[in-house]
Amino acid sequence: MAAEIRLFTCLTDNFGYLIHDPATKATASIDAPEAAPVIKALEREGWTLTDILITHHHGDHVGGVAELKQKYGCGVVGPHDKSAKIADVDLRAGQGDVVKVGGLLARVLETPGHTLDHISYVFDGEKALFAADTLFSIGCGRVFEGNYPMMWNSLLKLRALPDDFKLYCGHEYTAANVKFALSVEPDNADLRTRAEQVTRLRAENKPTIPTLLGEEKKANVFLRADEPSVAASLRMKGADAAAVFGELRERKNKS
Ligand SMILES: [Zn+2]
Repeated sequence: MAAEIRLFTCLTDNFGYLIHDPATKATASIDAPEAAPVIKALEREGWTLTDILITHHHGDHVGGVAELKQKYGCGVVGPHDKSAKIADVDLRAGQGDVVKVGGLLARVLETPGHTLDHISYVFDGEKALFAADTLFSIGCGRVFEGNYPMMWNSLLKLRALPDDFKLYCGHEYTAANVKFALSVEPDNADLRTRAEQVTRLRAENKPTIPTLLGEEKKANVFLRADEPSVAASLRMKGADAAAVFGELRERKNKS
């Protein structure tokens, strides 16, 4: 039986995610921005929380962990303490580790840059990538703790995943990301297609997530910092990809 994935809004623009294994009834929450919407989603489905998989230490990703752990007695997986300490973590996971959610397997990729501790979870069997604040649709996270080469390298790790994998990210930032990306690549046909789709979805008050990684590779300018046309558009012809990526990130910060 295929895993079931549910997505819902937490706080203002965070996504909450549940992934459920029908065979074992195990259910994991990917991060826990706040407890109430996670509990509501569980009750709606009749599922019990068995695991929380934390991506990084920011409050809008771990704010609900303590309450959920107390209510369900679930196991909590989190990254090593590479920046701030995360409370309530039972198991520390790093690059190459495999985490179990019932019969489902999640491969851990270390994707530092946004924070030093940031990890992403790849469910190969479900073709699902939970990238939190490393990779957004048509965008990427701000680089708070790492540096640009580090973040670019993390994005390359995610870009190496197959095109038919779905991206589940940490925030609904797609419309603003599209606006910025179009300022750099106004003639990117795939980006324009995505822009139309995003306008339609937002007008209907629907999430823009999930999205296919293959589409992101074609339309997300932050995954395209090594495209000569992107460097040319920034007047950085011949510059290395990490420098082009850094310039993109700086411009987005100011946009
Ligand atoms: Zn964050």
